[in-house]
Amino acid sequence: MTTTNARVAVLSVGDELVLGQIDDSNARWLAQELQAIGAMPGERRTVADDRDALAAAIRALAATHTAIVMTGGLGPTLDDLTRDALGDVVDPGAPLVEDAAGVEHLRGWFERRGRAMPASNLRQAMRPRAARLLDNPNGTAPGIAARCGACEVFCLPGPPNEMKPMFSSFVAPALRDEQRVVLTAALHTIGLGESLIGEQLGELMQRGREPSVGTTASNGIVTIRIRATGAPDAARAALDASIAACSARVGAIIYGRDGEPLAAVVGRMLAERGLTLATAESCTGGMLGAMVTEVAGSSAWYSGGFVTYANERKIADLGVRASTLDAHGAVSHETAIEMARGCLARTNASVAISTTGIAGPGGGSDAKPVGAVYIAVALRAGAVYSRRFHFPGDRATVRSRTAHLALACARFALLGEPERALLWSESEAVRVERA
Ligand code: ATP
Ligand code: MG
Repeated sequence: MTTTNARVAVLSVGDELVLGQIDDSNARWLAQELQAIGAMPGERRTVADDRDALAAAIRALAATHTAIVMTGGLGPTLDDLTRDALGDVVDPGAPLVEDAAGVEHLRGWFERRGRAMPASNLRQAMRPRAARLLDNPNGTAPGIAARCGACEVFCLPGPPNEMKPMFSSFVAPALRDEQRVVLTAALHTIGLGESLIGEQLGELMQRGREPSVGTTASNGIVTIRIRATGAPDAARAALDASIAACSARVGAIIYGRDGEPLAAVVGRMLAERGLTLATAESCTGGMLGAMVTEVAGSSAWYSGGFVTYANERKIADLGVRASTLDAHGAVSHETAIEMARGCLARTNASVAISTTGIAGPGGGSDAKPVGAVYIAVALRAGAVYSRRFHFPGDRATVRSRTAHLALACARFALLGEPERALLWSESEAVRVERA
Protein backbone atom coordinates (compact mmCIF):
# COMPACT_ATOMS: atom_id res chain seq x y z
CA MET A 1 0.00 0.00 0.00
CA THR A 2 1.46 3.35 -0.92
CA THR A 3 1.15 6.13 1.58
CA THR A 4 0.19 9.69 0.88
CA ASN A 5 1.73 11.02 4.06
CA ALA A 6 4.96 12.94 4.18
CA ARG A 7 7.99 11.14 2.81
CA VAL A 8 10.91 12.64 4.61
CA ALA A 9 14.61 12.41 3.87
CA VAL A 10 17.15 12.63 6.65
CA LEU A 11 20.41 14.21 5.54
CA SER A 12 23.37 14.12 7.92
CA VAL A 13 26.25 16.47 7.27
CA GLY A 14 29.82 16.11 8.34
CA ASP A 15 33.21 14.64 7.45
CA GLU A 16 33.34 12.93 10.83
CA LEU A 17 30.17 10.98 10.00
CA VAL A 18 31.32 9.95 6.54
CA LEU A 19 34.70 8.91 7.93
CA GLY A 20 33.06 6.88 10.68
CA GLN A 21 34.60 8.89 13.51
CA ILE A 22 31.25 9.39 15.21
CA ASP A 23 28.00 7.49 14.97
CA ASP A 24 25.08 9.09 13.24
CA SER A 25 22.77 8.97 16.23
CA ASN A 26 20.84 11.98 14.92
CA ALA A 27 19.60 10.08 11.89
CA ARG A 28 18.48 7.16 13.99
CA TRP A 29 16.65 9.41 16.42
CA LEU A 30 15.03 11.42 13.63
CA ALA A 31 13.82 8.31 11.80
CA GLN A 32 12.06 7.12 14.93
CA GLU A 33 10.56 10.52 15.75
CA LEU A 34 9.32 10.96 12.21
CA GLN A 35 7.44 7.68 12.34
CA ALA A 36 5.95 8.64 15.67
CA ILE A 37 4.37 11.72 14.09
CA GLY A 38 3.10 9.83 11.06
CA ALA A 39 5.80 10.93 8.63
CA MET A 40 7.54 8.23 6.65
CA PRO A 41 11.34 8.28 6.50
CA GLY A 42 12.04 7.73 2.81
CA GLU A 43 15.79 7.95 2.55
CA ARG A 44 18.80 8.63 4.69
CA ARG A 45 22.02 10.14 3.38
CA THR A 46 25.30 11.18 4.83
CA VAL A 47 27.35 13.81 3.03
CA ALA A 48 30.77 15.26 3.80
CA ASP A 49 31.45 18.95 4.48
CA ASP A 50 31.53 19.73 0.76
CA ARG A 51 29.39 22.55 -0.59
CA ASP A 52 28.72 21.12 -4.04
CA ALA A 53 28.03 17.63 -2.76
CA LEU A 54 25.61 19.07 -0.21
CA ALA A 55 23.81 21.17 -2.79
CA ALA A 56 23.53 18.15 -5.07
CA ALA A 57 22.11 16.04 -2.25
CA ILE A 58 19.55 18.69 -1.29
CA ARG A 59 18.47 19.02 -4.93
CA ALA A 60 18.14 15.28 -5.44
CA LEU A 61 16.29 14.61 -2.21
CA ALA A 62 13.98 17.60 -2.67
CA ALA A 63 12.84 16.18 -5.99
CA THR A 64 11.53 13.01 -4.40
CA HIS A 65 10.52 13.97 -0.85
CA THR A 66 8.01 16.23 0.85
CA ALA A 67 10.60 17.33 3.38
CA ILE A 68 14.28 17.05 4.21
CA VAL A 69 15.60 17.20 7.75
CA MET A 70 19.31 18.07 7.72
CA THR A 71 21.56 18.09 10.74
CA GLY A 72 25.04 19.53 11.12
CA GLY A 73 27.19 22.01 9.29
CA LEU A 74 25.62 25.13 10.82
CA GLY A 75 28.59 26.10 12.96
CA PRO A 76 30.66 29.26 12.61
CA THR A 77 33.70 27.72 10.93
CA LEU A 78 34.61 27.54 7.27
CA ASP A 79 33.88 23.85 7.11
CA ASP A 80 30.25 24.49 8.08
CA LEU A 81 28.65 24.76 4.66
CA THR A 82 25.00 23.85 5.09
CA ARG A 83 23.71 27.42 4.75
CA ASP A 84 25.81 28.09 1.65
CA ALA A 85 24.73 24.85 0.00
CA LEU A 86 21.08 25.57 0.79
CA GLY A 87 21.53 29.02 -0.77
CA ASP A 88 22.99 27.44 -3.90
CA VAL A 89 19.80 25.40 -4.25
CA VAL A 90 17.03 27.83 -3.28
CA ASP A 91 18.59 31.09 -4.46
CA PRO A 92 21.40 30.23 -6.86
CA GLY A 93 24.00 32.93 -7.43
CA ALA A 94 22.62 35.24 -4.75
CA PRO A 95 24.65 36.06 -1.67
CA LEU A 96 23.40 35.08 1.77
CA VAL A 97 21.73 37.84 3.74
CA GLU A 98 22.24 38.71 7.37
CA ASP A 99 19.20 38.04 9.51
CA ALA A 100 18.59 40.82 12.04
CA ALA A 101 16.88 38.58 14.57
CA GLY A 102 19.69 36.08 14.12
CA VAL A 103 22.28 38.72 14.96
CA GLU A 104 20.25 39.64 18.04
CA HIS A 105 20.16 35.98 19.12
CA LEU A 106 23.93 35.68 18.81
CA ARG A 107 24.67 38.94 20.61
CA GLY A 108 22.30 37.98 23.42
CA TRP A 109 23.83 34.51 23.66
CA PHE A 110 27.33 35.83 24.22
CA GLU A 111 26.18 38.73 26.39
CA ARG A 112 24.34 36.48 28.81
CA ARG A 113 27.54 34.51 29.20
CA GLY A 114 29.70 37.58 29.62
CA ARG A 115 31.81 36.68 26.60
CA ALA A 116 32.86 38.71 23.61
CA MET A 117 31.39 37.37 20.37
CA PRO A 118 34.01 36.20 17.87
CA ALA A 119 33.33 37.90 14.53
CA SER A 120 33.14 34.51 12.85
CA ASN A 121 29.96 33.71 14.77
CA LEU A 122 28.08 36.28 12.72
CA ARG A 123 28.17 33.74 9.90
CA GLN A 124 25.53 31.90 11.85
CA ALA A 125 23.06 34.74 11.34
CA MET A 126 23.39 34.43 7.56
CA ARG A 127 20.69 32.74 5.53
CA PRO A 128 19.48 32.47 1.96
CA ARG A 129 17.16 35.37 1.15
CA ALA A 130 14.12 33.13 0.82
CA ALA A 131 14.79 31.19 4.02
CA ARG A 132 13.90 31.83 7.64
CA LEU A 133 15.88 31.13 10.76
CA LEU A 134 14.71 28.73 13.47
CA ASP A 135 15.44 29.73 17.04
CA ASN A 136 17.97 27.59 18.90
CA PRO A 137 17.53 28.02 22.65
CA ASN A 138 20.48 25.74 23.48
CA GLY A 139 23.27 26.91 21.21
CA THR A 140 24.58 29.62 18.95
CA ALA A 141 23.61 28.09 15.60
CA PRO A 142 20.06 28.95 14.58
CA GLY A 143 18.37 26.44 12.32
CA ILE A 144 17.24 27.35 8.82
CA ALA A 145 14.05 26.46 6.97
CA ALA A 146 13.44 27.02 3.29
CA ARG A 147 11.18 25.80 0.53
CA CYS A 148 12.75 24.02 -2.36
CA GLY A 149 10.04 23.44 -4.94
CA ALA A 150 7.45 21.25 -3.26
CA CYS A 151 9.85 20.23 -0.52
CA GLU A 152 10.34 21.86 2.86
CA VAL A 153 13.98 21.79 3.96
CA PHE A 154 14.83 22.03 7.67
CA CYS A 155 18.46 22.52 8.66
CA LEU A 156 19.17 21.81 12.31
CA PRO A 157 22.45 22.00 14.21
CA GLY A 158 24.47 18.81 14.71
CA PRO A 159 24.76 18.61 18.51
CA PRO A 160 21.90 16.32 19.59
CA ASN A 161 20.95 18.41 22.63
CA GLU A 162 20.34 21.37 20.30
CA MET A 163 18.83 19.41 17.44
CA LYS A 164 16.19 17.44 19.35
CA PRO A 165 14.24 20.30 20.94
CA MET A 166 14.34 22.18 17.65
CA PHE A 167 12.89 19.18 15.85
CA SER A 168 10.05 19.14 18.36
CA SER A 169 9.44 22.91 18.11
CA PHE A 170 9.66 23.43 14.36
CA VAL A 171 9.76 20.23 12.36
CA ALA A 172 7.27 18.00 14.16
CA PRO A 173 4.42 20.56 14.05
CA ALA A 174 4.98 21.08 10.33
CA LEU A 175 5.11 17.42 9.42
CA ARG A 176 2.77 15.85 11.95
CA ASP A 177 -0.12 14.12 10.31
CA GLU A 178 -3.09 13.70 12.62
CA GLN A 179 -4.78 11.43 10.09
CA ARG A 180 -1.94 8.99 9.68
CA VAL A 181 0.51 7.35 11.96
CA VAL A 182 3.31 4.87 11.52
CA LEU A 183 3.22 2.33 14.34
CA THR A 184 5.90 -0.22 14.93
CA ALA A 185 6.37 -3.26 17.10
CA ALA A 186 9.43 -5.43 17.67
CA LEU A 187 9.07 -9.05 18.81
CA HIS A 188 12.33 -10.51 20.11
CA THR A 189 13.32 -14.16 19.88
CA ILE A 190 16.37 -16.14 20.83
CA GLY A 191 17.17 -19.75 20.08
CA LEU A 192 15.92 -20.10 16.52
CA GLY A 193 17.71 -19.12 13.29
CA GLU A 194 16.53 -16.17 11.23
CA SER A 195 15.76 -18.33 8.21
CA LEU A 196 13.58 -20.69 10.24
CA ILE A 197 11.70 -17.77 11.71
CA GLY A 198 11.30 -16.45 8.19
CA GLU A 199 9.82 -19.78 7.11
CA GLN A 200 7.41 -19.77 10.02
CA LEU A 201 6.29 -16.24 9.23
CA GLY A 202 5.75 -17.28 5.61
CA GLU A 203 3.68 -14.90 3.53
CA LEU A 204 3.40 -12.46 6.41
CA MET A 205 6.83 -11.31 5.27
CA GLN A 206 5.82 -10.67 1.68
CA ARG A 207 7.14 -7.36 0.40
CA GLY A 208 4.38 -4.82 -0.03
CA ARG A 209 2.18 -6.38 2.63
CA GLU A 210 0.58 -3.88 4.98
CA PRO A 211 1.50 -3.94 7.82
CA SER A 212 5.01 -4.88 6.81
CA VAL A 213 6.80 -7.70 8.63
CA GLY A 214 10.58 -8.15 8.53
CA THR A 215 13.32 -9.73 10.60
CA THR A 216 16.71 -8.53 11.81
CA ALA A 217 19.37 -10.52 13.65
CA SER A 218 21.86 -9.12 16.12
CA ASN A 219 23.87 -10.86 18.83
CA GLY A 220 21.88 -14.03 18.44
CA ILE A 221 18.59 -12.23 18.93
CA VAL A 222 16.28 -12.39 15.95
CA THR A 223 13.75 -9.58 16.02
CA ILE A 224 10.50 -9.57 14.07
CA ARG A 225 9.72 -5.97 13.10
CA ILE A 226 6.18 -5.00 12.23
CA ARG A 227 5.18 -1.63 10.83
CA ALA A 228 1.64 -0.42 10.26
CA THR A 229 0.77 2.83 8.49
CA GLY A 230 -2.63 4.46 8.33
CA ALA A 231 -5.29 6.26 10.28
CA PRO A 232 -4.52 5.92 13.99
CA ASP A 233 -7.26 3.46 14.94
CA ALA A 234 -6.93 1.34 11.83
CA ALA A 235 -3.13 1.23 12.09
CA ARG A 236 -3.36 0.18 15.74
CA ALA A 237 -5.81 -2.59 14.91
CA ALA A 238 -3.72 -3.75 11.97
CA LEU A 239 -0.55 -3.73 14.07
CA ASP A 240 -2.21 -5.74 16.83
CA ALA A 241 -3.56 -8.24 14.32
CA SER A 242 -0.10 -8.70 12.81
CA ILE A 243 1.48 -9.08 16.24
CA ALA A 244 -1.06 -11.80 16.99
CA ALA A 245 -0.45 -13.51 13.64
CA CYS A 246 3.34 -13.49 14.10
CA SER A 247 3.03 -14.70 17.68
CA ALA A 248 0.75 -17.54 16.66
CA ARG A 249 3.24 -18.76 14.06
CA VAL A 250 6.49 -18.32 15.97
CA GLY A 251 5.15 -19.12 19.43
CA ALA A 252 6.97 -19.16 22.73
CA ILE A 253 10.36 -18.55 21.18
CA ILE A 254 9.25 -14.89 21.27
CA TYR A 255 10.37 -13.74 24.68
CA GLY A 256 9.61 -10.03 24.69
CA ARG A 257 8.70 -6.86 22.87
CA ASP A 258 10.06 -3.45 22.00
CA GLY A 259 13.53 -3.70 23.46
CA GLU A 260 12.64 -5.55 26.63
CA PRO A 261 15.75 -7.43 27.79
CA LEU A 262 15.58 -11.18 28.23
CA ALA A 263 16.78 -10.82 31.82
CA ALA A 264 13.81 -8.58 32.59
CA VAL A 265 11.43 -11.16 31.13
CA VAL A 266 12.93 -13.93 33.25
CA GLY A 267 12.77 -11.63 36.26
CA ARG A 268 9.10 -10.90 35.69
CA MET A 269 8.31 -14.62 35.45
CA LEU A 270 10.18 -15.26 38.69
CA ALA A 271 8.59 -12.34 40.51
CA GLU A 272 5.09 -13.37 39.43
CA ARG A 273 5.63 -16.75 41.04
CA GLY A 274 7.49 -15.49 44.08
CA LEU A 275 10.65 -17.30 42.95
CA THR A 276 14.28 -16.22 43.11
CA LEU A 277 17.35 -16.86 40.99
CA ALA A 278 21.01 -17.48 41.75
CA THR A 279 23.89 -17.89 39.31
CA ALA A 280 27.07 -19.95 39.23
CA GLU A 281 29.34 -18.75 36.47
CA SER A 282 32.57 -19.97 35.03
CA CYS A 283 33.15 -18.94 31.40
CA THR A 284 30.82 -15.94 31.66
CA GLY A 285 32.77 -14.59 34.63
CA GLY A 286 29.91 -12.53 36.05
CA MET A 287 28.37 -11.44 32.77
CA LEU A 288 25.17 -13.27 33.57
CA GLY A 289 24.95 -11.59 36.97
CA ALA A 290 25.63 -8.26 35.29
CA MET A 291 22.83 -8.79 32.77
CA VAL A 292 20.46 -9.71 35.59
CA THR A 293 21.38 -6.76 37.79
CA GLU A 294 21.04 -4.35 34.87
CA VAL A 295 17.31 -4.85 35.34
CA ALA A 296 15.93 -2.29 37.77
CA GLY A 297 14.27 -4.00 40.71
CA SER A 298 16.15 -7.26 40.23
CA SER A 299 16.83 -7.44 43.96
CA ALA A 300 13.25 -8.67 44.27
CA TRP A 301 14.12 -11.91 42.46
CA TYR A 302 17.91 -12.22 42.20
CA SER A 303 19.71 -13.47 45.26
CA GLY A 304 23.24 -13.32 43.90
CA GLY A 305 25.87 -15.39 42.24
CA PHE A 306 29.18 -17.16 42.34
CA VAL A 307 31.96 -16.50 39.90
CA THR A 308 33.98 -19.70 40.10
CA TYR A 309 36.58 -19.49 37.39
CA ALA A 310 39.24 -21.82 38.82
CA ASN A 311 38.51 -25.44 39.74
CA GLU A 312 39.39 -24.77 43.37
CA ARG A 313 36.63 -22.17 43.57
CA LYS A 314 34.14 -24.55 42.00
CA ILE A 315 35.06 -27.00 44.75
CA ALA A 316 35.23 -24.54 47.65
CA ASP A 317 32.33 -22.24 46.77
CA LEU A 318 29.93 -24.64 45.10
CA GLY A 319 30.89 -28.05 46.43
CA VAL A 320 31.75 -29.49 43.03
CA ARG A 321 33.58 -32.77 43.70
CA ALA A 322 37.25 -32.99 42.80
CA SER A 323 36.56 -36.44 41.43
CA THR A 324 33.97 -35.00 39.03
CA LEU A 325 36.45 -32.43 37.77
CA ASP A 326 39.12 -35.13 37.39
CA ALA A 327 36.90 -37.58 35.61
CA HIS A 328 34.95 -35.25 33.32
CA GLY A 329 36.74 -31.90 33.31
CA ALA A 330 35.46 -28.47 34.28
CA VAL A 331 33.66 -28.18 30.95
CA SER A 332 31.18 -31.03 31.17
CA HIS A 333 27.58 -31.90 31.94
CA GLU A 334 28.67 -33.34 35.28
CA THR A 335 30.41 -30.15 36.41
CA ALA A 336 27.63 -27.88 35.15
CA ILE A 337 25.09 -29.95 37.04
CA GLU A 338 27.11 -29.95 40.28
CA MET A 339 27.66 -26.21 39.96
CA ALA A 340 23.93 -25.58 39.61
CA ARG A 341 23.07 -27.95 42.44
CA GLY A 342 25.74 -26.50 44.69
CA CYS A 343 24.47 -23.03 43.94
CA LEU A 344 20.96 -24.03 45.02
CA ALA A 345 22.28 -25.72 48.14
CA ARG A 346 24.22 -22.62 49.19
CA THR A 347 21.47 -20.06 48.57
CA ASN A 348 17.77 -19.72 49.23
CA ALA A 349 17.15 -19.36 45.53
CA SER A 350 14.42 -21.33 43.78
CA VAL A 351 16.28 -21.54 40.47
CA ALA A 352 20.02 -21.76 39.80
CA ILE A 353 21.80 -21.35 36.47
CA SER A 354 25.37 -22.45 35.85
CA THR A 355 27.69 -21.84 32.91
CA THR A 356 30.97 -23.55 32.06
CA GLY A 357 32.65 -23.58 28.68
CA ILE A 358 35.59 -22.85 26.46
CA ALA A 359 35.43 -19.23 25.36
CA GLY A 360 38.73 -19.36 23.46
CA PRO A 361 40.79 -18.49 21.63
CA GLY A 362 42.95 -21.16 23.32
CA GLY A 363 41.98 -24.19 25.37
CA GLY A 364 39.95 -26.10 22.81
CA SER A 365 40.30 -29.79 21.97
CA ASP A 366 38.67 -32.16 19.49
CA ALA A 367 36.14 -33.31 22.04
CA LYS A 368 35.61 -29.84 23.47
CA PRO A 369 36.42 -27.21 20.87
CA VAL A 370 36.37 -23.49 21.45
CA GLY A 371 32.72 -22.53 21.78
CA ALA A 372 31.71 -25.72 23.63
CA VAL A 373 29.60 -24.60 26.57
CA TYR A 374 27.46 -26.39 29.14
CA ILE A 375 24.53 -24.61 30.74
CA ALA A 376 22.59 -26.18 33.58
CA VAL A 377 19.37 -25.01 35.20
CA ALA A 378 18.39 -26.44 38.58
CA LEU A 379 14.89 -26.00 39.92
CA ARG A 380 14.38 -26.34 43.66
CA ALA A 381 10.97 -27.75 42.92
CA GLY A 382 12.22 -30.09 40.20
CA ALA A 383 15.11 -31.58 38.33
CA VAL A 384 18.42 -30.26 37.00
CA TYR A 385 18.76 -29.90 33.25
CA SER A 386 22.07 -29.52 31.53
CA ARG A 387 22.73 -29.07 27.87
CA ARG A 388 25.71 -28.64 25.67
CA PHE A 389 25.91 -25.82 23.17
CA HIS A 390 28.38 -24.99 20.49
CA PHE A 391 28.59 -21.27 19.87
CA PRO A 392 30.50 -20.09 16.81
CA GLY A 393 32.55 -16.92 17.05
CA ASP A 394 35.25 -15.21 19.03
CA ARG A 395 35.65 -15.06 22.78
CA ALA A 396 33.33 -12.10 23.25
CA THR A 397 30.63 -13.73 21.14
CA VAL A 398 30.85 -17.08 22.92
CA ARG A 399 30.62 -15.44 26.33
CA SER A 400 27.75 -13.17 25.41
CA ARG A 401 25.85 -15.99 23.66
CA THR A 402 26.35 -18.17 26.73
CA ALA A 403 24.89 -15.57 29.06
CA HIS A 404 21.90 -15.01 26.78
CA LEU A 405 21.23 -18.71 26.23
CA ALA A 406 21.54 -19.34 29.96
CA LEU A 407 18.65 -16.95 30.47
CA ALA A 408 16.77 -18.57 27.59
CA CYS A 409 17.24 -21.99 29.23
CA ALA A 410 15.96 -20.62 32.53
CA ARG A 411 12.97 -19.12 30.79
CA PHE A 412 12.02 -22.38 29.11
CA ALA A 413 12.50 -24.24 32.38
CA LEU A 414 10.06 -21.80 34.00
CA LEU A 415 7.67 -22.29 31.07
CA GLY A 416 7.71 -26.02 31.77
CA GLU A 417 9.68 -26.80 28.62
CA PRO A 418 13.17 -27.36 30.00
CA GLU A 419 14.12 -29.58 27.08
CA ARG A 420 12.99 -27.27 24.34
CA ALA A 421 15.23 -27.46 21.26
CA LEU A 422 17.31 -24.33 20.87
CA LEU A 423 19.70 -23.14 18.19
CA TRP A 424 23.37 -23.98 18.92
CA SER A 425 22.22 -26.69 21.31
CA GLU A 426 24.23 -29.82 20.47
CA SER A 427 22.54 -32.43 22.55
CA GLU A 428 19.32 -33.39 24.15
CA ALA A 429 19.14 -31.85 27.57
CA VAL A 430 20.58 -34.14 30.23
CA ARG A 431 18.11 -34.45 33.04
CA VAL A 432 19.11 -35.35 36.56
CA GLU A 433 16.62 -35.73 39.38
CA ARG A 434 17.65 -33.75 42.38
CA ALA A 435 18.97 -35.98 45.10
P1 ATP B 1 28.19 23.60 15.82
O1 ATP B 1 27.65 24.96 15.94
O2 ATP B 1 28.32 22.91 17.16
O3 ATP B 1 29.44 23.48 14.98
P2 ATP B 1 26.98 22.25 13.62
O4 ATP B 1 25.58 22.36 13.16
O5 ATP B 1 28.03 22.84 12.75
O6 ATP B 1 27.04 22.81 15.08
P3 ATP B 1 28.57 20.00 13.40
O7 ATP B 1 29.75 20.88 13.48
O8 ATP B 1 28.31 19.30 12.14
O9 ATP B 1 27.27 20.77 13.80
O10 ATP B 1 28.59 18.96 14.58
C1 ATP B 1 28.83 19.40 15.89
C2 ATP B 1 28.83 18.21 16.80
O11 ATP B 1 27.52 17.65 16.85
C3 ATP B 1 29.70 17.04 16.32
O12 ATP B 1 31.01 17.14 16.73
C4 ATP B 1 29.01 15.87 16.94
O13 ATP B 1 29.43 15.69 18.27
C5 ATP B 1 27.56 16.26 16.93
N1 ATP B 1 26.91 15.71 15.76
C6 ATP B 1 26.87 16.24 14.52
N2 ATP B 1 26.16 15.48 13.68
C7 ATP B 1 25.74 14.41 14.40
C8 ATP B 1 24.96 13.25 14.09
N3 ATP B 1 24.46 13.06 12.85
N4 ATP B 1 24.73 12.37 15.06
C9 ATP B 1 25.22 12.59 16.30
N5 ATP B 1 25.95 13.65 16.65
C10 ATP B 1 26.22 14.55 15.72
MG1 MG C 1 30.46 22.46 13.01
